[in-house]
Amino acid sequence: MYLCSLLYQTDLSFIAVAATEKEEENDHFLHSIRMHEDTELDNMAHMLNDEVSAAVDCTACGNCCKTLVINVTAEEVGSLANHLQLSEQDTKEKYIEESLAGNCYINTMPCHFLADNKCTIYEARFTECRDFPHLHKNGFKARLSGTLMHYGRCPIIYNVIEGMKVKTGFSS
Ligand code: SF4
Ligand code: SF4
Repeated sequence: MYLCSLLYQTDLSFIAVAATEKEEENDHFLHSIRMHEDTELDNMAHMLNDEVSAAVDCTACGNCCKTLVINVTAEEVGSLANHLQLSEQDTKEKYIEESLAGNCYINTMPCHFLADNKCTIYEARFTECRDFPHLHKNGFKARLSGTLMHYGRCPIIYNVIEGMKVKTGFSS
């Protein structure tokens, strides 16, 4: 295992401060990984993500549900309505904001459906919720800029990125 789970950083205040302090370092890291192969980076990120995700308790955090705008597809609005046993119109009025371009997103932050740091619609949660922080996917290199935008928000991202720095031999 890369690090004892007790050593993973999960303090949201610490991580938020680190994001500011390490902005320049993370920018250098972003540029330094260009020399690495996509597959090599994906394999490292997947392994670290498996380890860190198993050790970090999302129900003790919930920070993505508190601080992200959650985009929802039209199909997901319909599924939510079914799950809540409401009409689609009532569901939209209560929970959804729609942009002029027709994009839908949850109309509160923190999300309506978060209670005691747990998702109250867990089985029916949206693709965006299921996929965040996207570190199980291929394309680590292409997505790193976007991932770093959440470095100060998500303990899983913070710990995976710090692990990637070690594994790639990065020095700031
Ligand atoms: S739907 Fe559930 S998982 Fe998604 S943001 Fe809301 S509380 Fe979090
Ligand atoms: S995915 Fe990240 S931000 Fe969201 S609850 Fe888990 S550790 Fe916290």
